[in-house]
Amino acid sequence: MCHHAHRAFICLTGFLTYYAVCGEPRDVETSRHSNTRWTAASFPNPQVEVEKCGRREKSSICDPSGIISEISANVVQGAINAIHKDTGFQVAVALLGRTRRGDNRGAEEMSRGLHDSWGVGEKDKNNGVLFLLAKYDRQLYISTGKGALKQLPNDALDKIIARAKPQLREEKYDKAVEQVVDDIGAALGGEVLPEVKTESEGNNGWGVSAVGAAILLYFAGIAKSGWDRHTFVRQYRQATAHLESLHTARRRAGGPGSYVSTSCPICLQDFPPSPPPRCEPSLSPDRAPDMMEAALLTSEQDARRTPGEMVPVTISCGHMYCENCILNWMRQCSSSPTCPICRARISEAPQRGGQPHGHSRERQPSRSQMDFQPELAYRLGRLNFFYPRIVTPMLVERWSHHSFQHPFVDDFAYQNIRSEYTSYTTSSHSHGGSLSASHSFGGGSSMGGGGSGGSW
Ligand SMILES: [Zn+2]
Ligand SMILES: [Zn+2]
Repeated sequence: MCHHAHRAFICLTGFLTYYAVCGEPRDVETSRHSNTRWTAASFPNPQVEVEKCGRREKSSICDPSGIISEISANVVQGAINAIHKDTGFQVAVALLGRTRRGDNRGAEEMSRGLHDSWGVGEKDKNNGVLFLLAKYDRQLYISTGKGALKQLPNDALDKIIARAKPQLREEKYDKAVEQVVDDIGAALGGEVLPEVKTESEGNNGWGVSAVGAAILLYFAGIAKSGWDRHTFVRQYRQATAHLESLHTARRRAGGPGSYVSTSCPICLQDFPPSPPPRCEPSLSPDRAPDMMEAALLTSEQDARRTPGEMVPVTISCGHMYCENCILNWMRQCSSSPTCPICRARISEAPQRGGQPHGHSRERQPSRSQMDFQPELAYRLGRLNFFYPRIVTPMLVERWSHHSFQHPFVDDFAYQNIRSEYTSYTTSSHSHGGSLSASHSFGGGSSMGGGGSGGSW
């Protein structure tokens, strides 16, 4: 008993430190492009060559080699859309392995070239910003149009680049790219950039103890800087959307029909609209199959699927996850993996598709008989993990209770969060536009603008 509890704990902590597994870089694509030496002319345009850019729809991000995860790319796109809505500026992101020159001039030339050929910013205002990162060259460059010079002078760019370097040195590309775009957004919104510590101070600063970190967070909470506000606004928008769909899922689960998961409980990313029917290899029921082997085999057979595509799978207890997340979870706990939600032992390889099927059908509860509550509580926990300042532990506890059935975002306990959000956003100028849909570039150029780069 104790042994099991201990193992589950290791499982959980191991997984939490490795949470970003679901959108893990697309290996096939990475190997295909790792040696490509890009130029502005050969690099795809995310408004035109959507798939080549590793995206599912027109966007402002092109990442053919999968430098950042899909989750992170979605977060960055959300931030870019919010920047456009709040300030009118257009931001584009180009992520690649190498430029043809491979040095800082190469990064500068390519980002100016893309800025102009994509037409980032409105034509008459030149209010565009292009951020380029060349992973294997270890170069980054931010190019600004003339209309962005006031908000983003070169010394501000230098600060943004300096802030990203520690993350890049630790190869945290997701976090680095998210931070650069957040920082660009904050500066464009007229917020004052914090002073950057020197390299040695910065390194010591990151080595703070847990107590030190807690104290820092405490003070950050009191003296909310512009940077905190920007993160808060982004987290609020995303968490609120998740909470609304979670409420909808709960209402469906309570109704007469069976509930169908439409997103992965671990990474919270949506499943693709309708997974095509698949032919599964049959596993002999009297032979204990090697679960990982079977699962990995299926995964190899399907290696040709679209990069970054979500594949929903159902595990033996009936809970659904995306394949990447659950396989990574199982790798963490390979000796005796259990369902992250209900803790039932995972007794066979995850089955692709939305419904339990195969020889084990009779043993599985139907989705309508399954209690949604444990999944609800688990998902709230994940929301706390991704959006700690919005979905607080207090809210997780309150909302996980069976008796709480109201829409989460209407709960009075959420109103403090909502009014904080409103206080940050009502003063900002609105330029219309939707948060979810990506805007098109407006034909702006980098002519007469600024720019700054650096290596790490
Ligand atoms: Zn997932
Ligand atoms: Zn389960």
